[in-house]
Amino acid sequence: MREGKIIVIVAPSGTGKSTLMSFIHKKFPSLKESISTTTRSPRDGEKHGTHYFFESVDIFKKQIEADDFLEWAEVHSNFYGTSKQFVEGEISQGHDLIFDIDVQGADSFKKYFDKKANVIFIEPPSVDILRERLLKRATDSSDVINERIKNAEQELLRKNDYDYCVMNDQLEDAQQNLQNIISEVLSND
Ligand code: ADP
Ligand code: 5GP
Repeated sequence: MREGKIIVIVAPSGTGKSTLMSFIHKKFPSLKESISTTTRSPRDGEKHGTHYFFESVDIFKKQIEADDFLEWAEVHSNFYGTSKQFVEGEISQGHDLIFDIDVQGADSFKKYFDKKANVIFIEPPSVDILRERLLKRATDSSDVINERIKNAEQELLRKNDYDYCVMNDQLEDAQQNLQNIISEVLSND
């Protein structure tokens, strides 16, 4: 049986990854999104088991000790991790998977899966525009936004280290570029 493909989307917070992920889900309904575990608090409307598995730091640490995660990272002062069992089970059944993870996670994916992981970096037009988008989204406090901007500046240094880089300036252009890349990845043997 054909093994499922692995597509990893990585972008500084506020770049438009969630917006682009909704588009990808509509265009490629068979692509399944991995549900990560996190220690951050749910935002309004987020549900346990749908957006994330929201766990305490104690439980997360027990899962690390039990070697449950294919990768985990501390991002913006919270822990996030990807379940090994979920990913290996799905790809062995031929299911194509998409991941929304940070640059540390993308690096771990490359180490673990090498060429099998297709990593797409989404780039904002500028750090100023990134700040504007985070302010406009209005989901985070100014301290959290400042921390995310500081991390974004570091993450942007890595933009050319992955398989693809897509600029999210005009949304329609970014959507089209992503659609072309994903179609190509899914059609490769
Ligand atoms: P992320 O998931 O990367 O943190 P979001 O998808 O939540 O980012 O986008 C952050 C904000 O920027 C949202 O308010 C979203 O509507 C807006 N946004 C996303 N893409 C664009 C774009 N190409 N042009 C202008 N605004 C955008
Ligand atoms: P948010 O708190 O905005 O949902 O996510 C913050 C950051 O954590 C984003 O960059 C997101 O991609 C990343 N992230 C989400 N899940 C995982 C995961 O399982 N592993 C890693 N390494 N990063 C993750």
